[in-house]
Formats: sequence, structure tokens, C-alpha cells
Amino acid sequence: MNKIKLENIVQKSVAHEHKYNALDLYCPECGQAVKQNAIATTYVCSGCRHIVLETDKYCRFCGGSFEGDITTEHHIAGRLSDDEFQAVKTAIENKTK
Ligand SMILES: [Zn+2]
Ligand SMILES: [Zn+2]
Repeated sequence: MNKIKLENIVQKSVAHEHKYNALDLYCPECGQAVKQNAIATTYVCSGCRHIVLETDKYCRFCGGSFEGDITTEHHIAGRLSDDEFQAVKTAIENKTK
């Protein structure tokens, strides 16, 4: 058993002068984009896929021991290959620098 590191692209709200609703992608007042892509990292147990902490040695849900190496999975509305994910990640990082 091991830990799986999930790296997901998520939509983060950006600070904006006008009011908008949580699900809005563009400001209804000025049309500016109010969401930007960001990377969210979580860890799950490979046995039960519950969320665990990076530092956990045993799964708090199924008791499995995390002795294997951490593997990484990427999801963006379905599963991406590592190359596809890296391309998106690089684009996001360049944009937020
Ligand atoms: Zn606006
Ligand atoms: Zn588990």
C-alpha cells in the first residue's frame, strides 16, 4: 500500500472589485474573468482512496501502512497523461509569476 499524490487543476476565485457569485466565471458587471487555474495537491490512500496527510505513516481509515513510494495522479475533468499535465502546470505557473 502507498500514498497517491493527486495533483488537480482547480478554478480559484480572484480578488475583484465587483460582486459576483461563487459559480461565475466572468464578472457580470465588467466581463473580466474572475477565476484562474491553480494546482491543488492532496494525498489519498491507495487502498481506500480516503484523503490522508503527507506525513501519515498509516491510513487513518483502513489502517494500511504506507510503505511504498508515493505515486502521482493528475486529473482535469478526466485523467491526463503526465506530459499533458506538465504542459498545463507550466502554463499556469508562467501565468501566475
Ligand atoms: Zn467586474
Ligand atoms: Zn486507507
